[in-house]
Amino acid sequence: VIEVRNIVRNFKLGQEEVKVLKGIDLDIKRGDYVAFMGPSGSGKSTFMNLLGCLDTATSGTYRLNGTDVSSLSDDQLADIRNTEIGFVFQTFNLLPRTTALDNVALPMIYAGKSKRDRMDRASDVLTSVGLADRMDHKPNQLSGGQRQRVAVGRALVNNPSIILADEPTGNLDSKTGVEIMALFDKIHADGNTVILVTHEEDIAEHAHRVIRLRDGVIESDVRNR
Ligand code: ATP
Ligand code: MG
Repeated sequence: VIEVRNIVRNFKLGQEEVKVLKGIDLDIKRGDYVAFMGPSGSGKSTFMNLLGCLDTATSGTYRLNGTDVSSLSDDQLADIRNTEIGFVFQTFNLLPRTTALDNVALPMIYAGKSKRDRMDRASDVLTSVGLADRMDHKPNQLSGGQRQRVAVGRALVNNPSIILADEPTGNLDSKTGVEIMALFDKIHADGNTVILVTHEEDIAEHAHRVIRLRDGVIESDVRNR
């Protein structure tokens, strides 16, 4: 699904050019379950944002399902973000005044689905993440774990080819974090490609492959099953 070759990402900071990713090579196959780890500042979020087409590389190539992403227009990138990628954030990033059902249905508006299809699919997805009885709740009427379930539902709703999650349990207590990881395990078991970032070893153990970044390069890449 993913082929990354010699990806470099520099940021301009005043006069200085800060080198954050210093040449990353990586292949991720369909159905893989990957955890990224590494010290704060090592470039994990920067790399996830590139994989999620929220940002583009300074140099190098990124192919997603065979398409060279760096050659696409902004509109084409937006389309890929909406149809090929499901992104889950540490801080949930839900629309505050919008019900769980409408938060989950939102990406389908951009995908051009009819209202009826949107509501049917969003309610199926919310049921599958364990929120059948919370569809009409707004984010501030939900617990942290429930909010993250809504965010996971929104990420899944257009059947993306990869699910990316940047510290999805970072704002949750450990018990709720384990429940969210059980949800990712199920999503992976359903055949999805799941890639997440975590600081916690016991969260990373859920993945089948652990990649450690250090100072903008891959330090190790270990498959444990
Ligand atoms: P954490 O574990 O704390 O989330 P991280 O591994 O996700 O860390 P990144 O957010 O990828 O780290 O940041 C890596 C480095 O890149 C940091 O030193 C950061 O200051 C720098 N950086 C990230 N984004 C920008 C930007 N837009 N402009 C300048 N520097 C940036
Ligand atoms: Mg980060």
